[in-house]
Amino acid sequence: MRMRLGLLTVALLAFVACSAPPKRTTTASAPPAPAASGALEPAPQGALQVAFLDVGQGDSALVSFPNGKTMLIDGGETDQGVALVGKLRRLGVQQIDWLVATHPHSDHIGGLIAVLNAFPVGEVWDIGMPFESPVYRDFLLAARRAKSPSGERPRFRVVRRGLTLEPAPNVRLSVLAPSDPLLQGTRSDPNNNSLVLRIDAPGGSFLFTGDLEREGRRRLYESRPNLRADVLKVAHHGAENGTDRAFLNRVNPAAAVIPVGAGNRYGHPHRETLALLQGRRVYRTDLHGDIVMRLNTDRKLQITTTRRPPTQATASAKPAPTVGAVIGNRNSKVYHTPDCSQLPKPANQLRFRSAREAERAGYRPHKCVQGE
Ligand SMILES: [Zn+2]
Ligand SMILES: [Zn+2]
Repeated sequence: MRMRLGLLTVALLAFVACSAPPKRTTTASAPPAPAASGALEPAPQGALQVAFLDVGQGDSALVSFPNGKTMLIDGGETDQGVALVGKLRRLGVQQIDWLVATHPHSDHIGGLIAVLNAFPVGEVWDIGMPFESPVYRDFLLAARRAKSPSGERPRFRVVRRGLTLEPAPNVRLSVLAPSDPLLQGTRSDPNNNSLVLRIDAPGGSFLFTGDLEREGRRRLYESRPNLRADVLKVAHHGAENGTDRAFLNRVNPAAAVIPVGAGNRYGHPHRETLALLQGRRVYRTDLHGDIVMRLNTDRKLQITTTRRPPTQATASAKPAPTVGAVIGNRNSKVYHTPDCSQLPKPANQLRFRSAREAERAGYRPHKCVQGE
């Protein structure tokens, strides 16, 4: 959806004006300029562009390097695949040099299946964690059947901390997690073993965190990596367990991007995360649509979004959302999504505004709640 420049600029100024200036301890690059309106279009020659794509409740970002090479990090759910391929074409993609699956949850890898069928792919990066799901199986199958630019199979790589790459001159990419052995017995092993990577380019740096949660962060700190980045892809769709103050202090981003679907069943992004991010520029795919961050040769970060976010006034005037609601069973203390086929009898139903609220009340998720 395109929009008029005037409207968006006013909205963004209102949005930014409600926040204190970001606290920054380094002078690595200039803070990002306010966003202007934009549609998805190819990155100009010599620019590094990161397009955080709106794939509903899921995660996807296309990195276009200054030399024209591309990296796709995650791809949303399977039903987003066709739309994702369309967006990649609008971004000028003809091949994907590196296709990265941060972890095997469907809201990250589902859409990658259509991408593997549509474009030549150079390498597929995966964490190689044993994981049983039809979507992951289809993803592995698609990776095996895909074609590389040279007409062979893409190289399939199980990636670990320590891998570095120079995808374009003066651009450095480093994998910070996971490390061996993979974590086990955490709240969500796929999330906590998420592939974490950073990209450093002249003028700016980006940190991608997948769905990393508390245990994964603790493991990440052990190797004392440089986490400081200008732009943070907020972990786990803004869930409370994906971000804490200590982590934000280490990253100290000027801008944060939350990939999240409107009215999702998990109540993402959580209020606590938004409170922690106050004072920084926050972009959300449910409000801003696709968010394109471009580092031009002048080394300034230019941000455009495809949708106008609601102003603070309209946002706060909205009634409390009920769309993320879940339904608890008073007897079994299990909660379900409203569309679950095994809902409790109406007399035993108890409605919660979010999964988090249900868990705070001591309820456990039914298998219909995947928590991805
Ligand atoms: Zn996810
Ligand atoms: Zn996940």
